[in-house]
Amino acid sequence: MKRLALHAFQRCGLFSFTRALSAGKARILMYHNFSGPGADGGGLSEAVARQQFDYLRQHFKVVPLSRIVACLAAGKKLERHWVALTIDDGRRNCYEFLFPLLKEYRMPATFFVVSSFIAGEDWIWTDKVSWLSEQPGHREQLAPNNLPQLFRSLNRMRPETRNQRIEEWAAGAGVSLPQKPPARYAACSWAELREMAGSLVEIGSHTATHPILSSITDEESWKELIESRRQIEEGIGGKVSSFCYPNGRLEDYRPSQAKQIREAGYDCAVVADSGLVKNGADRYRLPRVGMERKTESVEMAKYLDGMAHYQSKLWPKRNFLQREPEEIVG
Ligand SMILES: [Zn+2]
Repeated sequence: MKRLALHAFQRCGLFSFTRALSAGKARILMYHNFSGPGADGGGLSEAVARQQFDYLRQHFKVVPLSRIVACLAAGKKLERHWVALTIDDGRRNCYEFLFPLLKEYRMPATFFVVSSFIAGEDWIWTDKVSWLSEQPGHREQLAPNNLPQLFRSLNRMRPETRNQRIEEWAAGAGVSLPQKPPARYAACSWAELREMAGSLVEIGSHTATHPILSSITDEESWKELIESRRQIEEGIGGKVSSFCYPNGRLEDYRPSQAKQIREAGYDCAVVADSGLVKNGADRYRLPRVGMERKTESVEMAKYLDGMAHYQSKLWPKRNFLQREPEEIVG
């Protein structure tokens, strides 16, 4: 029913209409993982990525995030049909499968990386939980269906409590967490980031250790902001001026921490809450549109064309066409 209705709306021109109506609002798209031939595990497939990029090439103009931010900072009007691509965490699958596509399509993107992850000091704690859920003998609470609920509770814990809990689950499942991330969770190297930064890609900070900011003190979040930038700038030999909140929902940071990002000298920060970027938007809480689950073309068009945006404005409660399965953001 839902899909049939969407197809009907698309056929009668409603999507083209909402695209024109929302042309002055920028879209910042959010991705985490890509896959391709020989890839181990999830991530957006090359075929779906191509479908999305073809649609973007046809109807939108993909620009660097910094261009949208510069426009907002100068108080200028956003140009029509602007889109920015953003990719979180810095996993190697993005270098391997997305970067060739960016070059082929000549599309810029921003990679938000976790500095200790790239430096090989640790792997991302959310990936450790996902890895544990893939192990035979894991506990019921780590079953894939329970993961959204589990992450909600982990996100509220202090990092040391959370890490201890993860170690306990590993012990309970009779496995030990590998020192280095397994292939599907591996990081880009500094050399790979440098190569991308020299061609189409901006590198931003996604903290040093991926803590949920609201679970740590302001003093600790300040260190995350400063240390991650220092480490990334040294690693890539270039400037870092954008930031991405871990998990990025409203409950995942405090207003005082949004203020710290500005005070630390970053130009902007992106969140994971869904929305389009309006003229005059707050540069330190820029909404994004998650594209990883939009694997069907009509779903993709609903979000890119602004149809979903107007639905949520017109029927905030009656979201029968809007609701999606809960997404683990990371
Ligand atoms: Zn993340």
